Amino acid sequence: MASALDTPTREELLARLRFYRDLGLTEFYRRPVDPALLARLSVAPEQTAAHPANDSSSLDSNIHSQEDQPIPPRKTIPLAPEIAAAVPAADRAAALQSIRDEIGECTRCPLHKGRNMLVFGDGSPTARLMFVGEGPGADEDAQGLPFVGKAGQLLNNMITAMGLRREDVYIANVVKCRPPGNRVPEQEEGATCSPFLFRQIDVVRPQVLVALGATAATWLLGARQPLAGLRGRIHSVRGTQLIVTYHPAYLLRDPRQKKEAWADLQIAMKELGLKPPGKS
Ligand code: SF4
Repeated sequence: MASALDTPTREELLARLRFYRDLGLTEFYRRPVDPALLARLSVAPEQTAAHPANDSSSLDSNIHSQEDQPIPPRKTIPLAPEIAAAVPAADRAAALQSIRDEIGECTRCPLHKGRNMLVFGDGSPTARLMFVGEGPGADEDAQGLPFVGKAGQLLNNMITAMGLRREDVYIANVVKCRPPGNRVPEQEEGATCSPFLFRQIDVVRPQVLVALGATAATWLLGARQPLAGLRGRIHSVRGTQLIVTYHPAYLLRDPRQKKEAWADLQIAMKELGLKPPGKS
């Protein structure tokens, strides 16, 4: 069993993983580790100092033998369900409610264990623009609504800058329960929950979808690709145009990228025939 990391190391590791996630690198391989090697690594320094040469060469050879082990195959993103029949605009609110009722107090994947509130979605059932994020954070988990924390405030500002109100758009996530520590949803969690998102998309039938961050783009497109290669162009998903941009949480960490995100949103605005407020 691996020994627990001390708090500073753990925080440093989490920060590094978040950085990679923002770049669209969301999959990491953990090689099977020989418990005997871990036991030796946790030996007290004075013990290793007594036999430095032996310990160093032995650890090196152990580590190299670990590296010789094959990397496990990449898990594929499952195929999205077939596109459902169109729902008349007047029936879309009821259709969304019926999906919510079907989800119920869901225990279909392990994320239910840590949630306070399930976050289904929010906004207009007939929205022309729909945003898709990764999953609820702490604020969303507490309130049962998507994008209500600091990242949500930034998303609201982005929506306003587009000349829309939050209630004009629809917002949902790939998973509806908060992953512990805001980690990226596991393959099984995304595979179990994303069919509900696809059904929401099929009901709302937005003219334009905006994927906020690499995880949303991955599950909507059914393939893992770095965010940089997905931004700046229009994709097609479920008969809808898809624009990929940064997650607002990333923009809070690196505000220099807001200009890039605005360029992405302008592609969406062009498709929707929108002009920023104050411009005719
Ligand atoms: Fe159910 Fe989705 Fe929550 Fe998992 S994340 S428990 S599938 S609602």
